[in-house]
Amino acid sequence: MAKDKLRVLLVSPEVVPFAKTGGLADVAGALSKVLSRMGCEVKTILPKYRMVDEKKFNLEKIDRPLPEITIGEKEVKFKIRKCYLSDSDTEYLFLENKEYFDRDELYADKKTGQDYEDNDERFILFGRGVLETMKALNWKPDLIHCNDWQSALVPAYLKTILEEEPFYKNIATLLTIHNIAYQGNFPKTTFDKLGVKKELFYPLSPFEYWGGVNFLKIGISYADLINTVSERYAQEIQSGPEFGYGMEGILKDRARDIYGVLNGADYEEWSPEKDKLIPYNYGEGNLQVKSKNKEFLLRQAVLGADGNNPLIGMISRLADQKGFDLLYEIADKLLSLKVKLIILGTGEQKYHIFLSELEKKYPGKVKIYLKYDNKLAHLIEAGADIFLMPSRYEPCGLNQMYSLKYGTVPVVRETGGLADTIQDYDPQTQKGTGFLFQDYKGEELFSAIERAIQLFKNRTAWKNLMLQGMEKDFSWEASAKKYIQLYGKAVAKKRL
Ligand code: ADP
Repeated sequence: MAKDKLRVLLVSPEVVPFAKTGGLADVAGALSKVLSRMGCEVKTILPKYRMVDEKKFNLEKIDRPLPEITIGEKEVKFKIRKCYLSDSDTEYLFLENKEYFDRDELYADKKTGQDYEDNDERFILFGRGVLETMKALNWKPDLIHCNDWQSALVPAYLKTILEEEPFYKNIATLLTIHNIAYQGNFPKTTFDKLGVKKELFYPLSPFEYWGGVNFLKIGISYADLINTVSERYAQEIQSGPEFGYGMEGILKDRARDIYGVLNGADYEEWSPEKDKLIPYNYGEGNLQVKSKNKEFLLRQAVLGADGNNPLIGMISRLADQKGFDLLYEIADKLLSLKVKLIILGTGEQKYHIFLSELEKKYPGKVKIYLKYDNKLAHLIEAGADIFLMPSRYEPCGLNQMYSLKYGTVPVVRETGGLADTIQDYDPQTQKGTGFLFQDYKGEELFSAIERAIQLFKNRTAWKNLMLQGMEKDFSWEASAKKYIQLYGKAVAKKRL
């Protein structure tokens, strides 16, 4: 008899192509497809935000009776919709509640930039609603794969209020932490909304965090297994407060259950040979065509042709995590060299100001795009010679992997997924794929960029370095295999 398919429910607050604010959405989107292609029976669930285009994706109503969810004093109704995409068997489910999810942005008020005050209620509804949906559909997963704090209550509900219900018995859980700095921290009053027994709140209990409630801590405490998105980051977050952001203690308690699985890159979208968003396709066989993209990009940025000097690119959220304070420190020194710099990003106001001023100060050398623009991101990957990612910490990072494929040499800090994906260039052996620096210091970043610029002058060596990067393969298949192994471990642990 054929073995039954492993049933996986992927729970994520964002999923490409429906709703995205960061790399998590790419991961959830890619994993949803690849897992079902690799033989799992997959359902993926996310909130029905306004951003989810009902018409485009042809969202259907599911008519099943669903219970109301008690959130503190409120009884909250929700509905479920579903759709399929053409390229896999995965069923996408959307948890709908207009009051909570039909808003301009996913997590924060557009005008003030502040998190929505009821984010606790929104993701209590999501966590409880996901589990009720499974029961209403009479579809029992073997494993629920939760992602980040917004879905971290699911493992806790399974082991508290739903523990005695036969339907939920033996469902294993995996919690993936995509970025430990985002935790879902709320005041004590949130505890009363969770619906779990009062006795569960006491100092140092899973539900208590410095007198309040922390959704990520709850998830870390209750998930059967935990993983982060690179091996190095899995180690770093347990090492102390610099990387652990207050979770290092609870992570140490779970050390035996923590794994690292590197994200994959979606090469359907990100390959210079077939990228529809760049003007000139190229590959390992016709690398010289890359320079046409550089010309195009420089022209578009009104920076003037400059084939002989390196063009440095950055595509990033403008956040403290991403190392813009280091760039600030070295900007003048860097721009005294024969380089051009193009940055695409949005985020914190202080960096918008810094970068706008930098552009004004160095006309013809610096171009700053303060927006989110996927097409331009592709063009920068194709057109730049060097890609900068000097992150303070980096759980996995996607852009450095894209850069490798586009022959755009990464200069990165040796942390998290950057350390796991880029090998420092060794001039002796001529092996490596980029340039790494260790300490989070401007001078270290500068000297890594200098090494890159130096090598750029040697066209043969540089081409060799580009090719070594382009040969690297971080496809999703390898990551999905590792996830399936982890699911197997979690299921076995549960049934022990
Ligand atoms: P993070 O998830 O921390 O933001 P990642 O490198 O893992 O960083 O993923 C970021 C993703 O978002 C990449 O696909 C990157 O190309 C994209 N991205 C970030 N900022 C922009 C922007 N301003 N315009 C277009 N794409 C962006």
